[in-house]
Amino acid sequence: MNRQDLYRRLPLPAQQAMAAAYGVVQLPIRHGGRFRSDVRDLDARQWWSPDRLQRDQDQRVRAMVLWCAHRVPHYRDLFAELGLDASDVRTAADLAQLPMLDKETVRADPERFLPDPPRPKLVAQTTGGTTGTPLAYWATKDAVRFNYATYESRTRAWSGVRFGDRMASFHGQPIVPAGQERGPFWRRNPAFNQLYCSVYHLSDANLPAYLDALTAFRPVVLAGYTSAIHRLAQYVLRVGDTDRIRPRAVIVSSETLLPAARADIESAFGCPVHNAYSLGELVAYVSECDFGSMHVSTEYGVLELLDTDESAGTGRHEIVASGLFNRAMPLLRYRTGDTAAPATTTCECGRGLPTVDELTGRSDDVVHTPDGTIVGPAPMSLAFQRVPNLRRAQVHQDRVESIRVLVEVDEDFTVDDESFMVAELAKRLGTALEIDVERVDSLPRTSGGKERVVVSTLARDRGDR
Ligand SMILES: [Zn+2]
Repeated sequence: MNRQDLYRRLPLPAQQAMAAAYGVVQLPIRHGGRFRSDVRDLDARQWWSPDRLQRDQDQRVRAMVLWCAHRVPHYRDLFAELGLDASDVRTAADLAQLPMLDKETVRADPERFLPDPPRPKLVAQTTGGTTGTPLAYWATKDAVRFNYATYESRTRAWSGVRFGDRMASFHGQPIVPAGQERGPFWRRNPAFNQLYCSVYHLSDANLPAYLDALTAFRPVVLAGYTSAIHRLAQYVLRVGDTDRIRPRAVIVSSETLLPAARADIESAFGCPVHNAYSLGELVAYVSECDFGSMHVSTEYGVLELLDTDESAGTGRHEIVASGLFNRAMPLLRYRTGDTAAPATTTCECGRGLPTVDELTGRSDDVVHTPDGTIVGPAPMSLAFQRVPNLRRAQVHQDRVESIRVLVEVDEDFTVDDESFMVAELAKRLGTALEIDVERVDSLPRTSGGKERVVVSTLARDRGDR
């Protein structure tokens, strides 16, 4: 029995204790070692001049390229093949001598991206919820801490949130068993002063209980998937109860933030929304400052905006990123499939970190239900990951009354598996939406290797209320 199965079978007080123990175990992993000094360095460097930050980034590029060329089999072979020496790459711009890297290449043989032994201790990372077959990705402990330090310095601090402030989070953790009809739909994690809220039980029937729990918890910050927080905001606006939950800030991530959703969230909770973009592969970090610009953390990764098949026709450019701090599994010029536009103005906040515009975190669409709810791609993808014998799945929506689910399946996929999948989707989308399933030999793919979970022809902003 794995840890999640065990957790599901435990009575509520034991689940609560296990969630709390998880926090105690995670605390030194996330916030031990260099975490605090990393936060201080990041806090200081944000005010450096653009020139100084560029020199600092070039130096980090040299160190990472040296590591890759000498210690990591994929890059050692690549440099030999190209006739390049590590010393040929002196600056971030010099990275253009290397080819772009597709997710498929990494997925095909992830071992080749790990350094030769002796290796630092590896920590498994989750690479986001929007693909049916997640990429195995590892980080060093120091890299995990640097990632959390960046979140602390460049997202939480910019949102006016201090270390240790009460946070209610709406991420994908399966902390409440799926299908459970009675609350509570949240668990406390005292080590992080956090209330983990399930994103899978946000039905009309349960929303009043969420509102009560959040009112009692008095979060300083709400953080999580855009679609989940938007759903809560829509409910607050519908019942007109905008005085009950008054956090200092809302932080959204993992899914694209549309202007209409931002407006709803800000009216519902009476505070600014801060958008953050990062990948489980630890190659890029872009976050919104208190002046509303999306700043690139130059110490975290090199971000290039390139014209690719992925970005053709969007008026934007694909984000191709090179991670600068995770020596456990370095990815250089990694295609993210996400898009952005170069900034046209300079941010007035005074930070030297460069900015980008129109960042679209995921190329996915959203699902609309007949009752006006919007469900994002991350919860959909997590639903598919539970279905046995399912290789890939994609939701298509052309009418608000129904969806069509295209599935690529193994030979062993049974009628029961299909019913289970439909039930899993219904748990998240409600029963008013008609769900048709269609088996296909191969799903339509995009050139960047990014699998779209939701493809919709409905206007993105429709049914926002
Ligand atoms: Zn700014």
